[in-house]
Amino acid sequence: MPRRALVGLARHSLFLGLAVYLPASYRPGMSAVFYDTHAHLDYPDFAAELPEIVQRAATAGIERLVTIGTDLGSSRKAIALAERFPAVYAVVGWHPNDALAAPDDIRPELHELAKHPKVVAIGETGLDYYRLPSANCGSIAEDEVLKKKQAEIFKQQLQVADEAGLNVVIHTRGDCFEQTLEIMQPFTPKVRGVFHCFVNEPAYMQRVLAMNSIVSFTGILTFKNAQTVRDTLAATPMGSFMLETDSPFLAPVPYRGKRCEPAYVKEISEAAAQVKNCSLEELSAATCKTAKTFFCRLN
Ligand SMILES: [Zn+2]
Repeated sequence: MPRRALVGLARHSLFLGLAVYLPASYRPGMSAVFYDTHAHLDYPDFAAELPEIVQRAATAGIERLVTIGTDLGSSRKAIALAERFPAVYAVVGWHPNDALAAPDDIRPELHELAKHPKVVAIGETGLDYYRLPSANCGSIAEDEVLKKKQAEIFKQQLQVADEAGLNVVIHTRGDCFEQTLEIMQPFTPKVRGVFHCFVNEPAYMQRVLAMNSIVSFTGILTFKNAQTVRDTLAATPMGSFMLETDSPFLAPVPYRGKRCEPAYVKEISEAAAQVKNCSLEELSAATCKTAKTFFCRLN
């Protein structure tokens, strides 16, 4: 082989070596990568174009998508999506808004689902006092029945998470933050929670972090009237928060009001980097590491 060709080959391999060893976020021509840590890809909103949704996310640099179950059927669909797309991982559980439809004991079936290698957490679970029956012509007694069932299936999911060595994705909405912490307390610090779609003041975030749990932020960060959420993110240490879309809900500006999809983590990350006064690369490194630590089977 002529010497010139050998030198050329050496340069070429050096370049290839660098491309392999540098993190994706530092590769020339590639922008910082992010994960969507909370999306509902099993919702009918996405059924007609799932491959396109996953591809658009990849093109936008969103390398991992975590799809969240809301009952056992939805959790099975989440696992099927994780089996179909390498970038997709699943969370299995039962949402508090659907609590009344849950069987008395969801633990045996949830245990089986949690064994799947691409199941990275249990949820979403928690409490929701925002949409109680009394707000919609129901009675106070009906409110109590729903609150009791929400608490029961929340505890069951914490038990499954504890036994499976997984963390939990927490939904808490309405006047039930204290009750949510109270139910979680006996399972901490071993079981950690991500308080998803976090919109509360910094003092609430501190209480979450004090329990060894973390928070995550959605496209609400980009809304003009969401200064509290930006203040809370500003006060949240790097390493204690993740980013998410909650697709198909909560599309960030400039898509506000339209169907949200995982590719829009790009807009959310730009807003978050501005609030944290850091580069996209720093934000990418911190949030991806946080996600891999929290969702232990995510790789
Ligand atoms: Zn959700």
